[in-house]
Amino acid sequence: MGKDKGGNPFAPDRSDNFPLPAQKRTYSAQLFAQAAESVGYHPYDLPSANTSGPYTNPYGAQMGPCNFCGFCSGYACYMYSKASPNVNILPALRQEPKFELRNNAYVLRVNLSDDKKRATGVTYVDGQGREQIQPADLVILSAFQFHNVHLMLLSGIGKPYNPITNEGTVGRNFAYQNLSTLKALFDKNTTTNPFIGAGGAGVGIDDFNADNFDHGPHGFVGGSPFWVNQAGTKPISGLPVPAGTPNWGSQWKAAVADTYTHHLSMDAHGAHQSYRANYLDLDPNYKDAYGQPLLRMTFDWQENDIKMAQFMVGKMHKIAEAMNPKMIIGGAKKPGSHFDSTVYQTTHISGGAIMGDDPKTSAVNRYLQSWDVPNVFVPGASAFPQGLGYNPTGMVAALTYWSAKAIREQYLKNPGPLVQA
Ligand code: SF4
Repeated sequence: MGKDKGGNPFAPDRSDNFPLPAQKRTYSAQLFAQAAESVGYHPYDLPSANTSGPYTNPYGAQMGPCNFCGFCSGYACYMYSKASPNVNILPALRQEPKFELRNNAYVLRVNLSDDKKRATGVTYVDGQGREQIQPADLVILSAFQFHNVHLMLLSGIGKPYNPITNEGTVGRNFAYQNLSTLKALFDKNTTTNPFIGAGGAGVGIDDFNADNFDHGPHGFVGGSPFWVNQAGTKPISGLPVPAGTPNWGSQWKAAVADTYTHHLSMDAHGAHQSYRANYLDLDPNYKDAYGQPLLRMTFDWQENDIKMAQFMVGKMHKIAEAMNPKMIIGGAKKPGSHFDSTVYQTTHISGGAIMGDDPKTSAVNRYLQSWDVPNVFVPGASAFPQGLGYNPTGMVAALTYWSAKAIREQYLKNPGPLVQA
């Protein structure tokens, strides 16, 4: 039975309501909602891991109400208002007599038995720089994405992907998120106060996300949610200026003073497909501080990504125009555009150790258990076969709960492969 879709007609059915009502809308989010509705789309309040009021979670961890301080992305929350493992799970874990947290520990590799079919523990460097070995019956790699893949490659878990033969599983299906941003600049009568905000608060539309629209005439696959998510602006990157403004000096300062409190920013956070040419492997030349090969990322945008970005920006432009700004800046990738590591392009990477039902093309099974070393589980965005339109955290959490349930209810009772290859 569907519950609490929060105004999003494209939302899937839910088994329960969201724990709290949506956060308040910033003025930017209100402008976006009005404009999106006026051009026929379906705005909804973004589900957010920031609290709209006081909350005690099922583990007994307490959270205070978010005050829209604007220092959310990239900072810890001094109000305990941003859901994260250290706020919502660690306080409960600390009550467990058998639980021990070793911070400042950097895991170098998972140690394997001689036949490479069983993990025996991990080797890590402790806070004093000493190498330590921790024996273990069960190892869970839960370092989001890059580091999961890196540790598997460094440890020899699974076969490294070879893009030439298209064989191997670890490093394949590396995908990103296909982000496009537009900024609307208003005159002095419209004040958006971009210095306030919360990491997940905002208003979005799903009219062009996933398969919510007919892709037939457009020549691409994939989709994007669009949103105004005013998370608080950063000191330099959050200062938009009209095209042609110098990058420094008095003219830049005057342009910043003119636009800063009179702009809003909207994004199309697009899906991204995996391709044979985009992959991760161990760097043959460069090593980290511990003398181990760095993880190497081989990546570029493909035709589908550029077509999709252009389509999405065209649609998003219509919403921006409906706000009647004095200027719209930003745009889509152009044909022939290449990935540019100097331009922010989300941190939402995925793949590299994907889940699947065939050990020849996936690194982990449906329970995120390594096909090759069954006492290693690998939750994280590394398990996504393709990049999502939505941001990955919700799906990472859902998959982790799914995997944890299987470990507790199946694996611990009978350690071994949960799926036969
Ligand atoms: S904006 Fe983020 S960091 Fe600031 S109070 Fe709200 S949840 Fe905490």
